[in-house]
Amino acid sequence: RHRGRLTAPGRKPPMPCATKIVATLGPASSNPEVLERLLRAGVDVVRLNFSHGSAEDHIERAQRVRDAAARVGKPVALMADLQGPKIRVGRFAEGSVTLAEGAAFVLDAARGTPGDLQGVGLDYADLPRDVRPGDRLLLNDGLIVLEVQAVQGDQVHTRVVVGGVLSDNKGINKQGGGLTAPALTAKDMEDIRTAMAFQADYVAVSFPKSATDMEMARQLANVAGERWRHKPGLIAKIERSEAIPQLEAILKASDGIMVARGDLAVEVGNAAVPALQKRMIRMARDMDRITITATQMMESMINAPTPTRAEVSDVANAVLDGTDAVMLSAETAVGRFPVETVEQMALIALEAERAEDVRLEADFSGKRFGRIDQTIAMGALFTAHHLGCKAIIALTDSGSTALWMSRHDIHVPIYGVTPRLASQRRMALYRNVRPMLMDAHTQRTPALHEAERLLVAQGALMPGDTYAITCGEPMGHPGGTNLLQVCRVG
Ligand code: PGA
Ligand code: MN
Repeated sequence: RHRGRLTAPGRKPPMPCATKIVATLGPASSNPEVLERLLRAGVDVVRLNFSHGSAEDHIERAQRVRDAAARVGKPVALMADLQGPKIRVGRFAEGSVTLAEGAAFVLDAARGTPGDLQGVGLDYADLPRDVRPGDRLLLNDGLIVLEVQAVQGDQVHTRVVVGGVLSDNKGINKQGGGLTAPALTAKDMEDIRTAMAFQADYVAVSFPKSATDMEMARQLANVAGERWRHKPGLIAKIERSEAIPQLEAILKASDGIMVARGDLAVEVGNAAVPALQKRMIRMARDMDRITITATQMMESMINAPTPTRAEVSDVANAVLDGTDAVMLSAETAVGRFPVETVEQMALIALEAERAEDVRLEADFSGKRFGRIDQTIAMGALFTAHHLGCKAIIALTDSGSTALWMSRHDIHVPIYGVTPRLASQRRMALYRNVRPMLMDAHTQRTPALHEAERLLVAQGALMPGDTYAITCGEPMGHPGGTNLLQVCRVG
């Protein structure tokens, strides 16, 4: 296979990209030294996949990530990704079978024995009630296609349309959607409690169909987090066709969405996904929500040290679509080149960002901002862009000022400076926001001075540089941002 090597491997980008990188933790990335290298290479958010491992495993992994982040001195968010009602086949006596086109195959919810060439068990007892003759079931991410012939009690009789190797516990999707399983399983509810025990910064809900699914997850998370006064950000994974018409309501009920292209592509068809990705990102940004673009972004790097040109384009296009973050799954969880993958992704993102136009006037036209803090945030963007400022500093409690600013492309980094550790970590997912921790202040002048000192100490500002800074007076009141100042470093 011909591979385009666009950049020398191992070359570090000259500065961090504005787009954030989410990496999935797994055997290939759990070792403390690799984890540290991943964070240094550009990982901002670590995803813990709750489809694998016990509660103790997750708590231990979370601690490893927090330790590595402390050693590297970088704010890193933890995202607990719930398994959800992923429907899977059971196990096979031989570990797998090879299904031939035209063969009969029975999915049996009541089957107590390991699977064979004739059929296999299911972990979802309702499947026989959710399907009817003529429906197509896609297994193993759509690689195998079965057509339903008949339903008899607990058995779904199918014919193999596209054959191949089917191994233990592979996922099942129904083309066009229509599976009735609720988004939050009993295991998910338990896992939310586990995730709150380590104060996961984000919880990703798999297969939500409606805003209600997200509201329920939020309630559970808030109750479970109460002991620590912790409220995580909630991410809706858009991967069911039923979720598409509900997008606006789901966005309203969530802090962000994941364009979960793996399952989504199986349900709506591959060809529909790129346009959906663009629509979802646009809508999320309009509603001040975050987006993560996920699945197979650098798939070939599981086994190769450089990406394909198509993968380079895919990452670059997601960046140009305006995604907050690009996500790696198997590439960092089980791949052979986890660190190289992150390095390459960061370089691609940086190049794409350079090509981006700043269209603040177009962004603002036709928009009404009714809140003081929001108009101050927009004013800071406008000011920094026109004056060519080196930085925008947002003194923020919850991070919302930085979030509003980050919904618009501007080639000026936004420093979200907060006294709250939870806000600092949460901002790690916001595009173009560099979160920083600073002690709480009651007086404005010392706060502004300290923020400037902090950025100078970090090398983000130099004598003579101008920057725009926003804050609230009186200080320390969430939602109280009402001041914008332009300063020059003395
Ligand atoms: P998953 O979600 O990797 O947890 O299945 C992402 C996707 O479906 O794309
Ligand atoms: Mn999925």
